[in-house]
Amino acid sequence: MASAPLPRAFASTERLTAEQMIAAPLRWPRPSRLERPLQGVTKGLAEGLDALGIRTVGELLEHLPRDIRRARTIATLEKGEQATVLVEVRTISSRPVRRRGMRALVQATVADSTGRMRATFFNQPWLLARYPPGTRLLLHGALDQRGGFRVAHHALNPNDGADAGADAVPSGAEGSEQAGGVAHYAAAEGVSSTQILTLVLAAEADLSDVPEPLPAVIRAAEGLPDRPAALAAMHFPALAEDAERGRARLAFEELLLMQLAFLARRGERTRCGSAPALDSAPGLTERWLKDGLPFQLTGDQRRAIGVIANDLRTTQPMQRLLMGDVGSGKTVVALFAMLRAVEHGHQAALMAPTETLAEQHFATIQRLLGAEPVTAALLTGSTPAARRRETLARLGSGELSLIVGTHALIEPDVAFRTLAVAVVDEQHRFGVRQRAALDRKGAPHTLHMTATPIPRTLALTRYGDLEVSTLRELPRERRAVETRVVFPDGAGDDVAAGHARARAYEDLRGELEAGRQAYVVCPLVDEPAAGGAGEDVELRAATAELERLRGGELAGYELALLHGGMRPREKQAAMAAFASGRAHVLVATTVIEVGIDVPNATVMLIENAERFGLSQLHQLRGRVGRGEHPGICMLVSSQPAPGPGAGLAPDAPPPAGSGRLRALVQHSDGFRLAEIDLRMRREGELVGTRQSGMAQLKAARLPQDAALLERARGWAEAIAAGDPSLEAPEHVLLAGALHRAYGREASEPIPA
Ligand code: ADP
Ligand code: MG
Repeated sequence: MASAPLPRAFASTERLTAEQMIAAPLRWPRPSRLERPLQGVTKGLAEGLDALGIRTVGELLEHLPRDIRRARTIATLEKGEQATVLVEVRTISSRPVRRRGMRALVQATVADSTGRMRATFFNQPWLLARYPPGTRLLLHGALDQRGGFRVAHHALNPNDGADAGADAVPSGAEGSEQAGGVAHYAAAEGVSSTQILTLVLAAEADLSDVPEPLPAVIRAAEGLPDRPAALAAMHFPALAEDAERGRARLAFEELLLMQLAFLARRGERTRCGSAPALDSAPGLTERWLKDGLPFQLTGDQRRAIGVIANDLRTTQPMQRLLMGDVGSGKTVVALFAMLRAVEHGHQAALMAPTETLAEQHFATIQRLLGAEPVTAALLTGSTPAARRRETLARLGSGELSLIVGTHALIEPDVAFRTLAVAVVDEQHRFGVRQRAALDRKGAPHTLHMTATPIPRTLALTRYGDLEVSTLRELPRERRAVETRVVFPDGAGDDVAAGHARARAYEDLRGELEAGRQAYVVCPLVDEPAAGGAGEDVELRAATAELERLRGGELAGYELALLHGGMRPREKQAAMAAFASGRAHVLVATTVIEVGIDVPNATVMLIENAERFGLSQLHQLRGRVGRGEHPGICMLVSSQPAPGPGAGLAPDAPPPAGSGRLRALVQHSDGFRLAEIDLRMRREGELVGTRQSGMAQLKAARLPQDAALLERARGWAEAIAAGDPSLEAPEHVLLAGALHRAYGREASEPIPA
């Protein structure tokens, strides 16, 4: 993701027109009651609030409730169960403290429309004066064994506060059913949800100070309440629907700001960068496309090449993401872009996250280039010093046209003569800084690639500053990898009890006997510590598994080991042994997830498959069946098989564990699996904010808010097109909000 600073107008309100200068200071920023520290808070409570990031009134009001709990009625309370009730005080009295060690008690009779009960407050004798009969209260606590309600937290009825005594909630005895909702807040040690609500109630009047960053046009078109109203609806909902409307309003704003930040980054790069225009011309690239390829391009590949050709034609730097499942053929598309640079006398670089991947790419590219006379080299951390010096000299002189490598490509002493196209593979594995460092090598046109296809909702939140091309279609000869789950103890579908694993190895040996090769994948490198913290699952470490197999199921075969803890040289040796066929089996951790391309490998056995994510498993199995023979993937489950009827219905509730494995058995399309994955995950895990440098979303929930996100994107695009630096008066407050949300992160300096 680009990390260029936001345009200045985004990053400060200094560059206003005279007209705006007059308007702006009156509204934003201004000294505000919202910046006041919280008043009347005990030290313990203040510490708890501090842990939640709440120091000022403004921060308190921005601390959104996690959900709205419908208040319970007295009649539905069960003994021992924590609950919140809305009640009216009927009588109240205190019990004096007569003996040491006795706690001061305040006892009240409270009622709602369904009944009455005794409520006990401990150690707060002053409540007698504060809650006279007739007061409506929110109580949180539990019924004790004798039917008395022990109050843990209490507050004035928030709906009384919000509506200044209006009858938003039917009061006690007269009302039929309690309709009130109660905001429930994320709490911390020393501070409860009800305590936060009490503070929010006290700060209610300050809501009117909350600025409204959304332009009126957008609010009207989208039918959104203003910001103070939205916050009030969330904190003091008379009805759950109100809270949801408030939340949607705040979510829309968050998503709009996020998309504006993405578009600002894109705009900045477009304006500031100047790339060589690489027009199509009869020459190397056209000739290669026509005669040099060993296969026919798929329709998706042709389309991607078409849009990339267009991107490269102008001096605006390309910023494209090429998304395509494993085996969809991204490399050939990338090579097209790289050759365009070469034929115009420029250089091109491909950066991969691991040495293994870089080597694979280099080999693939050499194969794809065939007889074309293009000078190319590989540069990684394990390139010998003399070789490295020579390569750098040839890069500097321009003699080398094409280079493939790892992070080694972005070290400070690597200088290109004229870098025009950079390809970043598995771009999410690189940090923002590393990609920026590549930019500084002078690469204006950039193609990012990822083999983790994601639905558009996610693409917008992760890669909102890139244009996206997708390879959905797999090359014709790619067949789905036959996938099956191997349950332990012969449970589930395996009738031959106890022999499921044995049979899996039998099938694996069958492939080896037929001259094919196999992967065995294990989740961890080292044996878990003795005792394994109550883990009933034995994680099979790659090293231990290799030894075990050597003396057991795979005795007599040549096994190689590959894991992340090995030295580059050792890894290379293992890879070479497997690629050449000398090793029959590669026992590995997920370092093989990407990049390994051994067409003769047809079978993969994955241990403790539940330990892996759905997308990761899909990536892994994409490593087999890449040649003429079909692939087989065996997912060894560490959990017993689910009972009958536990299959994955199209809209089944989120399945976990073996449900994930079943999804893999049923689907071979990476996009479909990505959608299932999305459904299976809990909200909040989805928005790769860390990767994109985007601020946390507090109100928005994805994927549920996908439609809202689309609308926010639409508005963001319209704004970015019409007023890219947000200078129009109606956008000044939006610019302020954008700066508050993204200014610091986006303009964070990047060390060289
Ligand atoms: P990935 O998208 O996983 O990087 P690759 O670019 O490595 O996929 O391609 C996977 C394999 O498919 C390679 O061996 C490549 O040469 C081959 N391939 C790519 N495109 C086609 C095609 N259109 N027809 C046949 N084979 C193809
Ligand atoms: Mg690839």
